[in-house]
Amino acid sequence: MKYISTRGNAPELAFDDVLLTGLAADGGLYVPKEVPQFSLAEIESWRDLSYTELAHKVIYPFVEGCVDAEALQGMIDDVYGAFGHKAVAPLQQLDHNEYVLELFHGPTLAFKDFALQLLGRLLDYVLERRHEKVVIMGATSGDTGSAAIEGTKACRNVDIFILHPYGKVSDVQRRQMTTVSGDNIHNIAIEGNFDQAQDMVKASFGDQSFLRGERKLVAVNSINWARIMSQIVYYFYSALNLGGPLRPMAYSVPTGNFGDIFAGYMARKMGLPIEQLIIATNENDVLHRLMSQNLYEVHPLKHTITPSMDIAVSSNFERLLFDLYDRDGAALADLMGRMNAKTDVVSLDEDKLAKARELFDSMAVNQDETVAVMQQVFAETGYLLDPHTAIGVKAARECRRNTRIPMITLGTAHPVKFEDAVKRAGFEMPTLPHHLNDLMEREERLSVLPADLKTVQAFIASHTFKD
Ligand SMILES: *Cc1c(COP(=O)(O)O)cnc(C)c1O
Repeated sequence: MKYISTRGNAPELAFDDVLLTGLAADGGLYVPKEVPQFSLAEIESWRDLSYTELAHKVIYPFVEGCVDAEALQGMIDDVYGAFGHKAVAPLQQLDHNEYVLELFHGPTLAFKDFALQLLGRLLDYVLERRHEKVVIMGATSGDTGSAAIEGTKACRNVDIFILHPYGKVSDVQRRQMTTVSGDNIHNIAIEGNFDQAQDMVKASFGDQSFLRGERKLVAVNSINWARIMSQIVYYFYSALNLGGPLRPMAYSVPTGNFGDIFAGYMARKMGLPIEQLIIATNENDVLHRLMSQNLYEVHPLKHTITPSMDIAVSSNFERLLFDLYDRDGAALADLMGRMNAKTDVVSLDEDKLAKARELFDSMAVNQDETVAVMQQVFAETGYLLDPHTAIGVKAARECRRNTRIPMITLGTAHPVKFEDAVKRAGFEMPTLPHHLNDLMEREERLSVLPADLKTVQAFIASHTFKD
């Protein structure tokens, strides 16, 4: 499998290079050159497969040539076998033909574990064979950092440095990062805000000369193709469990960077009958404004009770635009240039937007509505939604086109991670799942550093493994 850049002006890469690369040299994102296709009969023949067997069918075509088939199965079994639920991604029914797909049974209780657990294994496998070591550097306001740390704690060829704003991350989220032990794990609490942490990460990627030896930085943010790839599996799994592919499905996806929902779009391209994909956003609604009014305009970030969806721009949307613009890299480079200039309001060509609207609907849900849905669903079923999932359920109910086909909302996190929202909805905090029940007593390890680039870089250089 070869990968190409959405902006058409960077070298084609194999999977292992894409895994280690992040952004393409032309500023674009890597996508598969050809999308693997499965017939309905073939998908139907997977009906009785377990999650881990199915994962191999879906993922292998993307890594073929770089990862041995048996080694891949070993990694998949390892990762998903350790999840807290035997079914890995179980369905919870809310109403007739209405479901939540629970994606929070991984170690950090959010769907990002599906991708980052496997990404850690894949990185170590590829690096071992290439005799390379890398440094992961990232900034987090919550979910991504803990999932990345959990995913790479056992990696022998990876040092990981995660920056979070000191005192500005919830206790559960901070402890999910700082209580993980491993010599290769480094939590840096920055005396500043998230944007300052993020800026330091960006600056470090731009000039990596502070690193020792041959080391280079690897990004594990949601533009990494390997993350999207792992997320395609649960669309197939949920559909097969509800009578797919012989009947179509609809999905509602709590959306920030457009990674999770793009995986659903990929599943459809690969042959899974998906009739509708709903982009559910919080008040950071850049995508909803684009989809509903054909106006692309970046607004300042708003902090909400759904912090994992607080984004000003949605980076993976570029991957969808690439297809809408018939995979014309030059056209996309021009469009992205205008969209990123942030000076003007940009519109898409009407026919391109119309094509997107055949499959996608969108809705922005505000914080009062989010809390109200948590209360409503609890009253109807006794089931407590996390606030991100609640946004998905709200949008599912409002935007649904056909009540005769199953509507599946992706349950992106466990409510125990989001105390503010749970309290605001008037509920007691749920108890932590078994594997985390001593989280609040575990020893924490973190280094507090000033928001100063040179200090942070010096810390990283002196704490990477010696070769
Ligand atoms: C990351 C995250 C999202 C948003 O997913 P994207 O792939 O960025 O669209 C939604 N909910 C939760 C709980 C998350 O952690």
